[in-house]
Amino acid sequence: MASVAIRDVRKAFGTTAVIHGVDISILDGEFVVLVGPSGCGKSTLLRMIAGLENITGGEIAIGDRVVNNVPPKERDIAMVFQNYALYPHMTVADNMAFSMKLRGAPQAEIDTRVKRAAEILGLNALLDRFPRQLSGGQRQRVAMGRAIVRDPQVFLFDEPLSNLDAKLRVQMRTEIKELHQRLKTTTVYVTHDQIEAMTMADKIVVMHDGIVEQIGAPLDLYDKPANVFVAGFIGSPA
Ligand code: ADP
Ligand code: MG
Repeated sequence: MASVAIRDVRKAFGTTAVIHGVDISILDGEFVVLVGPSGCGKSTLLRMIAGLENITGGEIAIGDRVVNNVPPKERDIAMVFQNYALYPHMTVADNMAFSMKLRGAPQAEIDTRVKRAAEILGLNALLDRFPRQLSGGQRQRVAMGRAIVRDPQVFLFDEPLSNLDAKLRVQMRTEIKELHQRLKTTTVYVTHDQIEAMTMADKIVVMHDGIVEQIGAPLDLYDKPANVFVAGFIGSPA
């Protein structure tokens, strides 16, 4: 686990600025949800934390270490995407083991970690199956299993549930929260769904057009929105 500090971070693609100086401090073990409309810069920010995009200005630190120039593989971060492409020709167990194999971990350690992740996610009975033999929810669990196996300091989720149907989405929300309560891994979770944000977050970061509008606990944002945008986005009438 580690804290994540985002300090005056900016991002431009060519001459187009899309993130205009964002400050967010994420505590060790916290579950932070980045929420905001499509195109506001959530994925770009997450990708900068992961090291998949260069930072145009400012800095990002994981724990005490500024990581601006640290390649993704050396950041000890695991990311779960919306399009969690599993390797179709590999079993569930091999999908979960793959990234540790790439890193040259000893087989005995890999086996232990895969087993533990499978237990946590209820995948024990599915370890020998192939992705095509799984339901959407099971595949999503395998994608999370791949992240858990690495036992990273930080989990990043980018709209991991948006391809699932409504009922499964609600169930997976609960599972991800339970997972966090168990592992206490620092988590940054991106969604454009304010209900998901309100129900999952320790702390919500509301983004809009490349800036942070407000940061606070779910009820704080609901009770005391900083401006009309936050009020409209979070407090939409039931
Ligand atoms: P969100 O995840 O909140 O929907 P994104 O971070 O994907 O938003 O995008 C933020 C802005 O940056 C958008 O205007 C998008 O078009 C732009 N953008 C994202 N990635 C690229 C890229 N690789 N090249 C150019 N523009 C990009
Ligand atoms: Mg996105």
